[in-house]
Amino acid sequence: MIVTLIGSLLKSINTVSEFFLKKELDPKNLTDLQQSLLNWFAEYQRKLPWRVEYEPYEVWISEIMLQQTQVKTMLPYYRRWMEALPGIREVAEADEELLLKLWEGLGYYRRVRNIRKTAEMICNEYGGYFPEEVTKLLKLPGIGRYTAGAIASIGFNQPAPVLDGNVTRVLCRLKKILDPPQLSEVGKELWRLAEAWIPKGKARHFNQALMELGATVCLPSSPSCLLCPIQHHCLALDSENVNQIPVKVPSKAPKQRYRACAVIRFNQSLLFSKRPENILLEGLWEFPSIEGDSIKNLKEILEKHVEQVYGIMISLGNEFHQLDHRYTNFKTRVSFYQAEVDGLQVEMDETISWVKFSETEKIALPSPYRRFVDWYLKQIVE
Ligand code: SF4
Repeated sequence: MIVTLIGSLLKSINTVSEFFLKKELDPKNLTDLQQSLLNWFAEYQRKLPWRVEYEPYEVWISEIMLQQTQVKTMLPYYRRWMEALPGIREVAEADEELLLKLWEGLGYYRRVRNIRKTAEMICNEYGGYFPEEVTKLLKLPGIGRYTAGAIASIGFNQPAPVLDGNVTRVLCRLKKILDPPQLSEVGKELWRLAEAWIPKGKARHFNQALMELGATVCLPSSPSCLLCPIQHHCLALDSENVNQIPVKVPSKAPKQRYRACAVIRFNQSLLFSKRPENILLEGLWEFPSIEGDSIKNLKEILEKHVEQVYGIMISLGNEFHQLDHRYTNFKTRVSFYQAEVDGLQVEMDETISWVKFSETEKIALPSPYRRFVDWYLKQIVE
């Protein structure tokens, strides 16, 4: 059913370009749209810390943090980060543990590793200053077309387009695009519009105005069209099908996974191991654990795993806590089992460590483990 639907959507590509060509804004209307947006942004923009100096370093960190995260959630992270690492050199020289700790809770940890690599490249190859050109920005780790456009336009006022989810929604509605933006022809057209509409010398504010409109007025459901400064240009509003645009492609249900964790305690400490390189959540600390497609026998397999990998004989009790966590492509049910051992049994190295209850706050943990530790320590105090 899904395959058939996507197939028929793809077939419609041939009609897309023709559809767009009929809908160019004439120069007078384009100027009005640009000016209306710029005036609105000047008056209603949110006061955000990277909008004070427009330092490219601050713009870059804010953009990476905002991927998959809303402004309200990321602001405390941003402030902590800037306090600890006020410049790009500090990032290049920072300890990996510190970077992971500052990022803990934002997820998608590959982003923070790429931040480190980019900071090193900028210090080594560009004397510590971001290049202004999109072509050079695109060569930096973790910087794709959107982020390069954001740094170039917001940081340097270069006429580079940006197209994130918010801008996509605004453009699709303004032009009443009835095809999903995921289609490559639609994507190309949206990038073209995002570039063609930038007013000369005003890229910084125009791009932010489009993004801000999508984030605060042109919301995914029930947009505040009455407050919209460009409502008189909006074809979707005109035909009253705002909520159906952008058209969605049905997404696959996430796969269910199961994880069993051994909570190994000795006196006032818990045993943590470090996740190895080149896997999801690399470098973060976790309870010794294993994951499978089924919960069946997972506890017994975990006991053997702990013995083989860590050389510790354990016997796990009943599951005493459970929580669910959603990643981008799958969801996990995490089960926790308690075990007590003689601490001397365990040989420490840089990948396995006893962590005192009072020091668990200092290590970087994936979200489900942080939630568990908060719960666990509360039980102990009570
Ligand atoms: S009029 Fe409504 S749908 Fe159209 S751009 Fe403005 S907020 Fe979005």
